[in-house]
Amino acid sequence: MIENWLNTATTPMLAIDDAGIVIFFNQALVQYFNANTLQVGRPLTSAIVHPEFLRLIVNKIPQGEIHLPDFQRYLHVELSHITGLGSMVVMVDITYFKQAERLKRQVVTEVIRHLRSPMTAIMGYAELMDRIGEINAEQESFVEKIMFNINKMDRSLSELSALEARAKEATEDLQMVDMPMIVRYAVDGLMHAFEDKHHNITLQLEPCNPVNGDPIRIRQIVNNLLQNAIEYTPQYGSIEITVQEEGNTIVLTVADDGIGIAKEDQPYIFDKFYRTHTASNGDNTDGLGLSIVQHIVEQHGGRVWFESQPGQGTTFSVVLPCHEA
Ligand code: ADP
Repeated sequence: MIENWLNTATTPMLAIDDAGIVIFFNQALVQYFNANTLQVGRPLTSAIVHPEFLRLIVNKIPQGEIHLPDFQRYLHVELSHITGLGSMVVMVDITYFKQAERLKRQVVTEVIRHLRSPMTAIMGYAELMDRIGEINAEQESFVEKIMFNINKMDRSLSELSALEARAKEATEDLQMVDMPMIVRYAVDGLMHAFEDKHHNITLQLEPCNPVNGDPIRIRQIVNNLLQNAIEYTPQYGSIEITVQEEGNTIVLTVADDGIGIAKEDQPYIFDKFYRTHTASNGDNTDGLGLSIVQHIVEQHGGRVWFESQPGQGTTFSVVLPCHEA
């Protein structure tokens, strides 16, 4: 009964023992992998030759993503391993999400392209303001604010389009990056901002193996998270930054006891240009900071997430793989 149900499921499933011998598979698996010769009791590798899929299985990697070029499908693979018994592998077709992601990227690239010329015009007119007649001090400070914000927006957009363009080659040219040192530099660079708001800063930086990455981009991750913590934590609030090694990864956390993020905003805060209704109107905000963080983290093979309680604070966590010796 259960076997019938598993067999008709549209989700590809597979069970193998520790020697790689097939114990169970369903029809969806055969279709996705075109594995017509797959048989219970025979090695998996006799019917499936997909290198990335086999790498996940052989190394018992709990999750991963694979591409099936023949059918233009993408699968998310989840593997549960029970020592002595073998592994159960369940896959979910994520092609739709991949396409939506690509579409979103195209839209963003177009938006960036179209924003550039009106921004240049705003900048040009703002610069001309004092040439067409005298302006008072207040007007002059407004012009300065316009120029500052347009410049900031321009920098963020350049950054974003550079990241989009480099998405594929980002893993080239990686170095050994000392995360505690990067955090220390970033905190020093923002010390005046912490002091302006009388924030209580705690650093807990454990010595750890280097991260595999681009130091400038990793510094940017830290900077953006710290700038948000400063922005969204009221005066005299506390910000705690930790770095520690866990397994083969380095974990960075930035925790604040600031305004927190409303539950209804939480699913969207990594979206480009998304700003919550409680978002600050400060000079450092444009709704791009976290999408840049997410981009860089993912390019480095890591993960970023957060936990937040409105009114109590927010903790962002970033996990990055260690440099392989
Ligand atoms: P912004 O430039 O507006 O800060 P981000 O992409 O950095 O844009 O952040 C998106 C939104 O997430 C912000 O507008 C803010 O509402 C929310 N946010 C980010 N970090 C925090 C934080 N530490 N505490 C509360 N809200 C935050």
